[in-house]
Amino acid sequence: MGLLSFRDVHVEFARKGRAPVHAVAGVDLDLEEGEILGLVGESGCGKSTLARAGVGLMPLSGGEVVFDGEPIRHVRGRARPERERKLQMVFQDPFASLNPRRRIGEQITDALRGHASRQERRRRAGALLEQVGLEARDAPRYPHQFSGGQRQRIAIARALAPEPRVIVADEPVAALDASIQAQVANVLVELRRDLGLSILFISHDLSLVRHVCDRVAVMYLGRIAELGPTASMWRLPLHPYTEALIRAVPHPEQVGVAPSGLPGEVPDPADPPDGCVFHPRCPYAHDACMPEHPSLRTVGDARQVACVLHEPGGQARRPEEAARA
Ligand code: SF4
Ligand code: MG
Repeated sequence: MGLLSFRDVHVEFARKGRAPVHAVAGVDLDLEEGEILGLVGESGCGKSTLARAGVGLMPLSGGEVVFDGEPIRHVRGRARPERERKLQMVFQDPFASLNPRRRIGEQITDALRGHASRQERRRRAGALLEQVGLEARDAPRYPHQFSGGQRQRIAIARALAPEPRVIVADEPVAALDASIQAQVANVLVELRRDLGLSILFISHDLSLVRHVCDRVAVMYLGRIAELGPTASMWRLPLHPYTEALIRAVPHPEQVGVAPSGLPGEVPDPADPPDGCVFHPRCPYAHDACMPEHPSLRTVGDARQVACVLHEPGGQARRPEEAARA
C-alpha cells in the first residue's frame, strides 16, 4: 500500500435539475514513498478533482483516501487534523494563491503560527526560500515584486513549511512561461531528492511528465486507463488512449509536422458512453469492448491497463489481426 492510497474513489457533483456529473468514477491509485507519480489526461478528465479529493478538499461519494495508514476525512470549514498538515497541495495559479498585501516571508510561515516563535519563523522563511532557489533576504518583499516563476517557488516554499511528506501539485507550471516551466518543475524533482518527498504531479503536458515522473497514471473520463513506469510506457504504450496521447506530443526533430491528434471530443462525464468509455474515439473498438468498461488489470510486473486487448486472448480479438487470421 502506498503512502497516499486512493481506493475505489468516486466523486459526483450534483447539478440542479440535471443528472449528476460522475467526475471520478472508481479510481484505485497508490503514491509510493519517495516517488513522483504523474497524473495525465485531457482537461475535464477528473485530474484536479482527484487531486483535491486526495488532500481532503473534496468530499467523496464513494471509496476512501488513505494517508499513511489512516483514512482522510473531508472537513468543511474546520482546521484540518494535525496529521494532514503532512499532506500539502500546490495549485496552478501562484497569482491567486498568494495574498498581495502581505510580505512573502510571513505567508510562507503562516502554517507555523502557534508552533514556532516569531524569530524561529523568520529563520525558517529564509531557509525555505533558499530551498526553492530564492534568497533569504527576499522574505520582506511582496508578491508583486516577483515574476510568475518566482511566485510559484514561493508557493512551493509555503507548502514545505509544515514539513510535508506528500505534495499534490495540480498543474504547477501550466500558468508559467514555457521557457521557465522546466526550471520550476526541477525544483520539485530536487525536493524529492533532498527531502524524500512523495509528489503527485498533475499535468496535461506529456513531455514535462516524461522528464519529471517515475511512474505515470493516464486518466480518461474519471477512470485510470493505464498506469506504469514512465520509460516503459513511452517505449510501449498499452492503452489506445495512451498511444494517442504520446503520438500527439510534438517531436523536436519533426519541425513543421503537425501532431496527430485524437479524433472526437471528450464525452460529457454526466453521460458516459456505454461499454468501454473510450470506445467512440478508439481505433481498435470492437464487440468485445461493449458489454462493460474494462477493469484495470496487471500486465507484466509493473504495469496496469484497462482495455480488453490486454485481457487473456485479447490481442487475437483485435480487429485487424482478426481480419488477417
Ligand atoms: Fe479501445 Fe476496446 Fe480497449 Fe476500450 S476496450 S480502449 S474500445 S480496444
Ligand atoms: Mg485541472
